[in-house]
Amino acid sequence: MGSAVAANFQSSSQPANAAIRNDWTLDEIQALLNQPFNYLLFQAQTVHRQYFDPNAVQVSTLLSIKTGACPEDCAYCPQSARYDTGLEKERLMEVEAVLEKAKAAKAAGSDRFCMGAAWRSPREKDMPYVLAMVKGVKELGLETCMTLGMLDEDKASRLGQAGLDYYNHNLDTSPDYYGEIITTRSYGDRLETLDNVRKAGMKVCSGGILGMGESQRDRAGLLQQLANLPQHPDSVPINQLVKVAGTPLEHAADVDPLDFIRSIAVARILMPKSHVRLSAGREEMSEEMQAMCFFAGANSIFYGECLLTTPNPAANKDQALFRKLGINSEHKVTQAPQQLDDLIAAPRDESELYARLGA
Ligand code: SF4
Repeated sequence: MGSAVAANFQSSSQPANAAIRNDWTLDEIQALLNQPFNYLLFQAQTVHRQYFDPNAVQVSTLLSIKTGACPEDCAYCPQSARYDTGLEKERLMEVEAVLEKAKAAKAAGSDRFCMGAAWRSPREKDMPYVLAMVKGVKELGLETCMTLGMLDEDKASRLGQAGLDYYNHNLDTSPDYYGEIITTRSYGDRLETLDNVRKAGMKVCSGGILGMGESQRDRAGLLQQLANLPQHPDSVPINQLVKVAGTPLEHAADVDPLDFIRSIAVARILMPKSHVRLSAGREEMSEEMQAMCFFAGANSIFYGECLLTTPNPAANKDQALFRKLGINSEHKVTQAPQQLDDLIAAPRDESELYARLGA
């Protein structure tokens, strides 16, 4: 171990609730990542239970409302116009068509509807449609989220006034590695958009992607940026790269699944009150790996757009996994009786563990 941070987590003097900090150092985060796996998972699960029901997972549905032909050059993205990935471009969807998809998502159990457009930033002429989508989806009783690229203060404020709950804008990777992945917008641009979103009163959804050839220090750097924002993002998607033929990253080396789980666990420890979302790449994860991610503190998932077609094998698979693990969608949680809950709650420290065991 050898680290003060790691040692603190093992100490019996750990505070009742994990402190909310915004001053994490890279060395501290790397020390957390490098701990023995079982220490790390125990800490993450302990922190998780301080703020969340361990058997509840928030479920969102993602719809692409405008696909492809994006002018940006994100090396992982099949929607960039710069790469030939065979993706069919689609114009901005009609408002009514989006609302139909949102209704289907609600009927299938989603509580948040995320709408994504492949833009550098929304154009003025698209704003009335986008704002109508936000209002319409809200009226259906769903939480709303959008990802439309960079936002200036004015557009962020108009989206906030229309009732948009969340805005997604990922930092993607560490500031040091960022230039290897994107050259058409800067890290500073991204931070500015997050600032505009927060100032407009919306919740921030921001995370990154693992498996783009980054080092462990870059993963720590990404987590540091997220955790040291003035306010932690409300939602932190951690993606595993989906390698798409035709993109510069199509041959990137796989992430070690245990390293991925470690990153989820550290995200949970650094941002105790945030929803950590197991996001892209879940298709390629085994049930066991997903279960470990939930144990490590992931408590949000995306159902893909394919949920909105019938039949829906992906959704059925997710429902089956939830049943096997005894996980409920967050808004339908049945609480265990308090006594049972107390019994199964992770002990806060060794002395509590021994007390329970009657030692
Ligand atoms: S800005 Fe978004 S849609 Fe455009 S290339 Fe980057 S990730 Fe893809």
